[in-house]
Amino acid sequence: MRAQPKASHFVNGAYVEDTAGAVIEVIYPATGEVIARVHEATPAVIEAALAGAEAAQKAWAATRPVERARILRRAVDLIRARNAELSELETLDTGKPIQETTVADWPSGADALEYFAGLAPTVTGETMPLGGDFVYTIREPLGVCVGIGAWNYPSQIACWKSAPALALGNAMIFKPSEVTPLGALKLAEIFVEAGLPPGLFNVLQGRGAVGAALVTDARVAKVSLTGSVPTGRKVYAAAAEGIRHVTMELGGKSPLIVFEDADIESAIGAAMLGNFYSTGQICSNGTRVFVQKAIKEKFLARLAERTAAIKLGDPMDPDTQLGPLVSAPQLDKVLAYIDKAKAEGGRLVAGGGRADLNTGYYVQPTVFADITDDMTLACEEVFGPVMAVLDFDTEEEVVARANATEFGLAAGVFTADLARGHRVVGQLQAGTCWINAYNLTPVEGPFGGVKASGVGRENSKAAVEHYTQVKSVYVGMGPVEAPY
Ligand code: NAD
Repeated sequence: MRAQPKASHFVNGAYVEDTAGAVIEVIYPATGEVIARVHEATPAVIEAALAGAEAAQKAWAATRPVERARILRRAVDLIRARNAELSELETLDTGKPIQETTVADWPSGADALEYFAGLAPTVTGETMPLGGDFVYTIREPLGVCVGIGAWNYPSQIACWKSAPALALGNAMIFKPSEVTPLGALKLAEIFVEAGLPPGLFNVLQGRGAVGAALVTDARVAKVSLTGSVPTGRKVYAAAAEGIRHVTMELGGKSPLIVFEDADIESAIGAAMLGNFYSTGQICSNGTRVFVQKAIKEKFLARLAERTAAIKLGDPMDPDTQLGPLVSAPQLDKVLAYIDKAKAEGGRLVAGGGRADLNTGYYVQPTVFADITDDMTLACEEVFGPVMAVLDFDTEEEVVARANATEFGLAAGVFTADLARGHRVVGQLQAGTCWINAYNLTPVEGPFGGVKASGVGRENSKAAVEHYTQVKSVYVGMGPVEAPY
């Protein structure tokens, strides 16, 4: 098995195995070949991780921020030096093209570690003078944090969660998606090599039940989930039982609005990036592309032409632009959505079925036009390379229709009129918006959703709020005056 890790879990600074846990097969989506086997964490392994994390966190919280930062910075250097081999493993785990994983996955994870290493020593409290007495505040770590990942960006998610958690003095237990368990183990190895004390970053494999066991443990202070809305509802409710902090990064059905004055080539490029990158398996994708009627047919003709030229193939070939979907169930789900869109009256402009490569879980990049708001394709998250193009007449109308969804993760606007760009974004119900760009999520900017798409923010200074809590200290400078 070409990607077999040394063992299934990483606990207290070392690989750990317990073959009593159910087997999870890791499948390379480009061929269907089993490339590794891991076991689900048993209660004994879960207990070891929780006990180790709790014990290690106290000393880590008392470590100077610059020292914590130095360790994370060393991890950044190791990741960058090994980007080629790490990206290859990411491609095996996810099926995403190597031309993407080498620039997007681990590199953005390294950026997050670098950013939070730099930020941690600057996190301070405040002083509130009261004319003699005063109040000061301390930003303290939360304690043991649980991270639960989705399968679309497994290593980036592990980095995005562990970077602020560790930089700010917490310990983390990370449970990757059972579909993509490999990258997080590499991150754990790298942290130890960089000097991170044992117990501060642990990786436990397993399906939902392992995540659920972690979320309800009394030693856990915070849960950060990246996953679907239905899972988010369950995890949020379970965390609420223990009044735990949460960050919920959930699904979306985001609008990308193209006005008739937009730079049409850029708008088409953004719509393609926002539907086909990572084979469409990105939470913030602009899967409802609203195009103003005057330019609709021109937009569709050029979009069809550019879509037909996308190069599908072996993800390890640097020229491949579109890889397979992550798994056989995901392929079935996406094909069912394509069939439904056809049955409900969508006009097929590009693609429309399984790609005939005689291997793997490939689907053609697909575009449907004439989608209306009530069609399934306009309402449900597909998580595959299937673009829905809708049309509109006026700004007021498109804003109302863009907002008419339970989701609120992201939104984009293309227009040459910047005043309109800002005006429209100001009215869109979405946590992350772009004007004349799409799906760029640099660590410097906050990322997250509103409405059913989530709570809390990852990246940027905003994440400090979500991995620390404020202690308020009142200092009395004189005698205590009491009425009795
Ligand atoms: P999923 O909801 O099926 O699973 C996510 C994770 O939750 C997995 O690790 C899974 O094992 C775990 N899990 C499942 N049930 C659980 C439970 N009861 N308790 C604890 N953990 C449990 O999601 P997925 O299919 O892996 O990923 C795709 C989804 O993730 C899409 O909806 C996508 O939009 C979303 N996503 C969101 C973001 C974001 O940042 N907003 C990023 C990537 C993906």
